[in-house]
Amino acid sequence: MRVVVTGAAGFIGSHVAEAMAEAGHEVLAVDVRPLAGRPGITPIEVDLAADDLTKLGEADLVIHLAGRPGIRSSWGPGRALAERDNVLATKRLLAACAERRPKVVVASSSSVYGSAAFRPHREDDPLAPASPYALSKAEVERLTAAAALDGLPAILLRYFSVYGPRQRPDMAFHRFIEASLEGRPLPVFGDGRRSRSFTHVRDAVAATVTAAEAELPPGIVINIGHPEPAPLRTAIELITGTLGVPTRIHTEDPVAGDAQRTWADTGRAERLLGWTATTGLAEGLADQIAWHRTLRVGAA
Ligand code: NAD
Repeated sequence: MRVVVTGAAGFIGSHVAEAMAEAGHEVLAVDVRPLAGRPGITPIEVDLAADDLTKLGEADLVIHLAGRPGIRSSWGPGRALAERDNVLATKRLLAACAERRPKVVVASSSSVYGSAAFRPHREDDPLAPASPYALSKAEVERLTAAAALDGLPAILLRYFSVYGPRQRPDMAFHRFIEASLEGRPLPVFGDGRRSRSFTHVRDAVAATVTAAEAELPPGIVINIGHPEPAPLRTAIELITGTLGVPTRIHTEDPVAGDAQRTWADTGRAERLLGWTATTGLAEGLADQIAWHRTLRVGAA
């Protein structure tokens, strides 16, 4: 299959592009940032919010992972960037796919739910976006649902706090591991009592590849998250314990719109994809820590 992966210079997109190439597909790796090619992967630099996207709509499958993620950075001037790179970029990409109608897999986020109370977030729950980023993702979902009504075989994956090798530098585990390796206190926003359905990128990629290859009802939304939420505090202790450093915290102001708890109901993913996240936090964090160490070896 000819597969377009957008956001292929990014965290999840780079892993998905590699997985699709390893599965024998011909991958066109799209990003606004430069990216390196490798066997089976042809890189192209495209700004989805501005450039001609005709070529992308000619693929058999489009996996749309490009975007402007992050709740914190979406406040203030970041709001316009979230609208541009999430909403406008997705709108243009869906329009480019309207004629030939490839299967399209679109990345959304657990942040569209707001905070979970006493049970997991189900896909049919009402949305409660509480930041410009979450609002932009809710709009991405609306645009995708509208395109599906118009006959595009498009589906939505709501990812929950993905971590692992190549995680974005603005994300919590990345910042905690780097701080621990440098002997600094860990920068924690708010009181650290939040919990998340932390999902290892290996599991997230497996779900994405399966969803991309499966026959699914157009417009369907599927949670891609670990079924058991873990407290941030547990992750912090696993990181400092693994690295053998004391747990010292530098408390920073809480981020507006950051959910107290996210918790994925994974029943739909299990039923439709036969998928469930299997990587536990200790194993997954050890994997990410090993990656951070390789960065240091590379820099030496
Ligand atoms: P990332 O920032 O590492 O990757 C996104 C990539 O998109 C970047 O390489 C960026 O250059 C590219 N991009 C941005 N605007 C573009 C444009 N206009 N044209 C072309 N490329 C553009 O982010 P990620 O963590 O890999 O997230 C991938 C997707 O998954 C995003 O849509 C994000 O919102 C969503 N998501 C991620 C998580 C997570 O935990 N990482 C959770 C929920 C949802």
